[in-house]
Amino acid sequence: MKYHSIEEIIKNNQAWVSQKLAEDSTYFDKLATGQKPPYLYIGCSDSRLALTRFTGTEPGELFVHRNIANQVSLTDINFLAILEYAISYLEVKDIIVAGHYGCGGIKAALLGITIGLVDNWVNPIREIYLQNQDKIDALPTQEEKLNRLAELNVQMQVKNLYQTSIMRQALGQQKAPTVHGWVVDIQTGLIKDLQVSTKQWQLPSFSGLVL
Ligand SMILES: [Zn+2]
Repeated sequence: MKYHSIEEIIKNNQAWVSQKLAEDSTYFDKLATGQKPPYLYIGCSDSRLALTRFTGTEPGELFVHRNIANQVSLTDINFLAILEYAISYLEVKDIIVAGHYGCGGIKAALLGITIGLVDNWVNPIREIYLQNQDKIDALPTQEEKLNRLAELNVQMQVKNLYQTSIMRQALGQQKAPTVHGWVVDIQTGLIKDLQVSTKQWQLPSFSGLVL
């Protein structure tokens, strides 16, 4: 794969700005007025997942949080701040948790080939594997095992999302966004909706301090 140089990237940017202005001279004026994105996208940091390109969405449509293997971590203050801001201030209508096949984080968790801190980060995925070991091990190829783990990981992250106090509070106020679990198949470029059922994870609504 040929990569663009930094100079080319800056030139591409200028060309893109010119093209956008030719289509609509007020494009950036409108963009600069602020954001009200309808979607919060939680995905993997993988460089191949340029979701705006995959979905044909425009700047201003997706509010984004990305980390290795699209984790919804209840101790990640960065993620929790984004979730709170997205729900309470941006009032997003939908939350998309998107994993992908061919994920290095999933591979690292299953095959134990990580080095450094990534090993700690993907440990929750190892737990998912251990909980579903029989079903995953029964699959005939390593690719299918990894793909299944990627899907189960999405399901688990959706479940985690429903366990945040932010989501529970939103549910109690009937303001909770709809949650979708997706897997992107990099080999085909297509998005697969896993149709994750979220009903069983919707805990009694959180209505205040009970300590
Ligand atoms: Zn990944």
